[in-house]
Amino acid sequence: VISTNAGGINVLRYGNTRNLVLGLEVVLADGEVWDGLRALRKDNAGYDLKQLFIGAEGTLGIVTRAVLRLVPRPRSSVSVLVAVPDPVTATRLLRRAQGDFSETLTSFELLEAPCVTMTLDHLGGGDTMVPGVSPWYVLIEVSGPADQASCENTVQRFLEAAFPDEVSDARLAISPAQADALWTMRESIPDAHNRAGFSVKHDISVPVSRVAEFLRQADAALHSAYPQVQSFTFGHLGDGNLHYNPLIKLDGHDPIDTRREVNRIVHDIVFSLGGSVSAEHGVGQVRLGDVERYRSAVELRLMRRVKEALDPEYLMNPGKILHEEAS
Ligand SMILES: Cc1cc2nc3c(=O)[nH]c(=O)nc-3n(C[C@H](O)[C@H](O)[C@H](O)COP(=O)(O)OP(=O)(O)OC[C@H]3O[C@@H](n4cnc5c(N)ncnc54)[C@H](O)[C@@H]3O)c2cc1C
Repeated sequence: VISTNAGGINVLRYGNTRNLVLGLEVVLADGEVWDGLRALRKDNAGYDLKQLFIGAEGTLGIVTRAVLRLVPRPRSSVSVLVAVPDPVTATRLLRRAQGDFSETLTSFELLEAPCVTMTLDHLGGGDTMVPGVSPWYVLIEVSGPADQASCENTVQRFLEAAFPDEVSDARLAISPAQADALWTMRESIPDAHNRAGFSVKHDISVPVSRVAEFLRQADAALHSAYPQVQSFTFGHLGDGNLHYNPLIKLDGHDPIDTRREVNRIVHDIVFSLGGSVSAEHGVGQVRLGDVERYRSAVELRLMRRVKEALDPEYLMNPGKILHEEAS
């Protein structure tokens, strides 16, 4: 988990894994052990070496022990599925939610309608929790130290204030079972998507203020190149991280070429908006070429210097993140 810097649906509240690591012990490529198992909130005595190993996908050393920051379990939690007309409105609703709930806003997930309908079909029905027909939905969780009734009241007031400008309809989970059903639906989207046909997956991030612009540009570019494309987008709007996974009819086209072409269209737009081609899934081998294309020469050189300082023989998880350069 530390080497992947895993994220997910609660990053908005707790940060990704990086935010929860205070100290590490690492076995280095030369066999030495670095004991950085400090439990300090503040430590400005030089470079923050642990950050190098978090999210390094095992390419710089083997993490053997860690000190993690813990947070108290929230006393209450409220989930609500909200119908919104478009991503611009969803982003406005996010700003309102951040203003109203501050750090108790735990998740804010954007779901395009097919993600919800196909997933409910895949799960075998149970659409009673879905508000009226809408092109987009937002799944929100608020959790914190207040008692359950106060938390529910706060969310109710938020929804009333946002209606009808930002919220056209909403279903508030009134029991833990209903909340579980909503989050099971959200967590099952990748499974439903995998059964829906050929698709090209992306794990992109752009600044939150540019998510709607990204979607407008990417949808337009893909519809022009592939008129029969069906968009299928879900993700962590609160972090500007979308799983932009259009379904594409191959019509005899080569899947590898199609994947490459769609990746290029989408990633060029992401790059032009100041975004990243891998928000939380890392680089591995699949995104290696993308990193080389979209990171600057200076950044690539710095990454390579770090790699060669810690693992000059490219022993650690070779072929991931950076190609070994022919010497
Ligand atoms: C780069 C990447 C990003 C991911 N992001 C997410 C995410 O955001 N959300 C999510 O839900 N899932 C994510 N996943 C799925 C991920 O497999 C799991 O979340 C979990 O982190 C895997 O833990 P694991 O112990 O099974 O590691 P593995 O799947 O065994 O390994 C994952 C990576 O970590 C390296 N690694 C494993 N153990 C060590 C170690 N002791 N020291 C150094 N390196 C090690 C491996 O070489 C590999 O690159 C991600 C996977 C990868 C590879």
